[in-house]
Amino acid sequence: MKINGQRLIDDLKYLREITATPGQGVTRFSYTEEDGRAREYLARIANEYGFSMETDSVGNIRVCPPESKGSLIIGSHIDTVRNGGWLDGIYGVMSGMEVLRTFADNGVHTDAAVMVYAEEEGSVFGSTMTGSKFLTGKYTADDLTALTDDSGVTLKEHLAECGYLTEDASGSSLPLAVNPADIECALELHIEQGPVMDAEGLQIGIVDTVFGMHVLEVTYSGLGNHAGASPMKGRRDSMSAFAEAVLAIEKVALEAGCGVVATIGKVSVSPGGSNVIPDSVRFTVDIRSNDDGHTSDAVERIRKTVCEIADGRNVECAVRDVADSSAIPFSRKVIEGMAALAEEQGIIYKVMDSGAVHDTAMLAPFTDAGMMFVPSINGRSHVPEEDTDEDDLVRGAQFLMDYILRSQSSH
Ligand SMILES: [Zn+2]
Repeated sequence: MKINGQRLIDDLKYLREITATPGQGVTRFSYTEEDGRAREYLARIANEYGFSMETDSVGNIRVCPPESKGSLIIGSHIDTVRNGGWLDGIYGVMSGMEVLRTFADNGVHTDAAVMVYAEEEGSVFGSTMTGSKFLTGKYTADDLTALTDDSGVTLKEHLAECGYLTEDASGSSLPLAVNPADIECALELHIEQGPVMDAEGLQIGIVDTVFGMHVLEVTYSGLGNHAGASPMKGRRDSMSAFAEAVLAIEKVALEAGCGVVATIGKVSVSPGGSNVIPDSVRFTVDIRSNDDGHTSDAVERIRKTVCEIADGRNVECAVRDVADSSAIPFSRKVIEGMAALAEEQGIIYKVMDSGAVHDTAMLAPFTDAGMMFVPSINGRSHVPEEDTDEDDLVRGAQFLMDYILRSQSSH
């Protein structure tokens, strides 16, 4: 049984035009007009096939064929970052829809359903994987008012405006699309968003573990002063300390090996004048790996290193932990099942880790969860240039369906 590859590609090409930034990549933020149009497109397919389509109180969508128990969910997201690509998220959703349609076209019974997890990118509310966090109890009704957009409008107000959150549903227990306890398996097909598969000529990536992450915020406080009147000797320059720290942190990550990565992505300089020695520099360090022990070793070395640098330059150093999440391993059963299938089919594959977090990782503690990747050309993602060969896109969706068929028949 073959999926309809052309139908999948046509869907994706149609949906890439639903963007708030025509000609500059895909910008489809949650709860906006563009998001609504993409949802309408899903509804049109669901209608045509007689699938049910429900939207829950936080905007997650569940599409389910009439005879399906919905115990196997195929999910991803349809929202994007600003000026993002045409495949991130929506490729997994439309592949799921293609799988359901192919089953229906061929009269094959399935217990699968498609899930769209709302606000995955956090483009509007600054928090990623919002919909799946509500589903898995990481977020509760209190977070509906705690999460706000840039202009201070709460998630609750957005949801009410979309009609997802009704007055009687705003109590402590939110009506949600699925209960993780009822799910036997959760799958997600996604583009890799990194360079490994393209560089190694791989066709399918089977995800083993999602990296854990620890974020530090470091503040160096020195002595602000006149840029001209203060001699170089005796300065307490927080910027110089920062400069030294950047390279020292890179060295810690390089020496740690084991796939540890460390990134300084956000810096603020105070007061930020060209003629003033900065009195303080504040920056974040994002440290990740597939092993919590390796991550915390690197975190402690970085903590020690940034303090030693401060001492050597006579500036104050404050380090704050701002985020911490454990590495998430996917189900061995799913990984081994996918690897066996790939072997059988002669697919060039690799079992690999994911440096990015995805909705399905949120479900991993509750059920057999698994993810598969297709290559991203030149490893680019979250940019308008994001792309994948059509053959790879079709192969990924076919592999998803074949895996589901295989796991259904082994039940
Ligand atoms: Zn994504």
